[in-house]
Amino acid sequence: MFDYLFNAYPEEADRKRILDETFSNYREHMNPGFIEYKRSAKNPSHAVEWRGEGVMMYDMSGHGFIDCLGGYGVFLLGHRHPHVMKRVQQAMERIGLYSQELLNPLAAVLSGEIAKRAPGDLQYVYYHCGGAESNEAALKMARLATGRTRHVSFSKSFHGKTTGALAATNRIPLRQPFGSLLPSFQVHTYDDIDNLDHSITTEVASVIVEPVQGEGGINVPSREFLQAVRARCTEVGAIMHVDEVQSGWGRSGRWFCSEHFGLEPDLVTLGKALGGGMATQSALIANSRAFHGHRENDPDFRGMEKNPWWLTNTFAGSQLSCAASLASIEVYEHDNILQQAEDKGAWLKAQLTELAMQNPQLVREVRGIGLWIGFELQTPELGTRIADELFMRDVLVAQTINNPSTIRIQPPAIITQEQLETVMNAFADSLKAVASAPVGA
Ligand code: PLP
Repeated sequence: MFDYLFNAYPEEADRKRILDETFSNYREHMNPGFIEYKRSAKNPSHAVEWRGEGVMMYDMSGHGFIDCLGGYGVFLLGHRHPHVMKRVQQAMERIGLYSQELLNPLAAVLSGEIAKRAPGDLQYVYYHCGGAESNEAALKMARLATGRTRHVSFSKSFHGKTTGALAATNRIPLRQPFGSLLPSFQVHTYDDIDNLDHSITTEVASVIVEPVQGEGGINVPSREFLQAVRARCTEVGAIMHVDEVQSGWGRSGRWFCSEHFGLEPDLVTLGKALGGGMATQSALIANSRAFHGHRENDPDFRGMEKNPWWLTNTFAGSQLSCAASLASIEVYEHDNILQQAEDKGAWLKAQLTELAMQNPQLVREVRGIGLWIGFELQTPELGTRIADELFMRDVLVAQTINNPSTIRIQPPAIITQEQLETVMNAFADSLKAVASAPVGA
């Protein structure tokens, strides 16, 4: 019945059918706005994503794009990494999803491996199917640990789109249409040490902070800021929750971005790259302070140990997802992926900085960490135009959600030097094209 949807190299007649069906079903049964907004949908010959392989994403006719968007940070190992596929297939030959009754050895071993690599004394892992969901769970854990219900988040933050995660997210157009969210969030300016004492009080259950803001525009804060947040959390007994959904699992050139700042959080959330580019895997990892909590008047308080089902769900930590995450560890270690991310990111950042200096009328700043670079244009309109130009030159990028002047560049760490140079040429040509046809010209 659906054979035509599973051919890696479809014939012309099937390509036409797939294109028509994709457009009409998006319009009538899915998310019609995407037809209007997606860059690819404006160009029917490239509209449908068909095959991913390593650094490349191909449309139905086999036209390739260098993927520097990487599913918003998912593909540090590229598309369909052969070792990740092998481990997932091996797991699937035995068992795919979790019965929920017997114990799950893949999830157990993975938890130990995550804990081994995590900063400080992080120890207890819960799995979920997306970053927002893990952040929701983290808010609940902090509330249980402290017996408090207030939280602090930061300007330009992004923590996901579920109700609680959105309450922590500071982007008005994402929040406003939905009315009042969790009312218990105080917003403090990101990277601002002043007045932390006023925001982080003894009523606060947790402070949720990105160690580098992704959707805010790849904003790298000072070490002093993050350390001051840490110190204040300790002082008032609040849980320090570091959201590493985008920064974690190698994107910054370390397992955890917190390592760059010598940070020891009480609770970290992970997602995106954790599934090896193949599985919808996210996680929360907590230390004993967050997991067991404490209550002044109840010395026997056991926190999360009291009810193991408080933060679980049906699909989380499946054998399929855990096989992909375990495989990612094997590849990172075997192929030195963290070092590759750091070295290739440094090269790309230096090249983009040079280009920015040659085009100050268009580019405001280049910043980033590891293989995670923000290229900030002077206006959001320029951000859109440069992303459009890059798309026409077969390079996929996107603007960051909370700062659309900034283009995010986050390719797989397996990108070759030749591909990096192709990306740089595309950037140079895109800037030239935009400079020669300014807005309104
Ligand atoms: N937290 C951060 C820092 C993110 O960048 C994102 C997504 O971009 C999320 C949470 C939400 O993750 P998900 O889209 O998997 O729910």
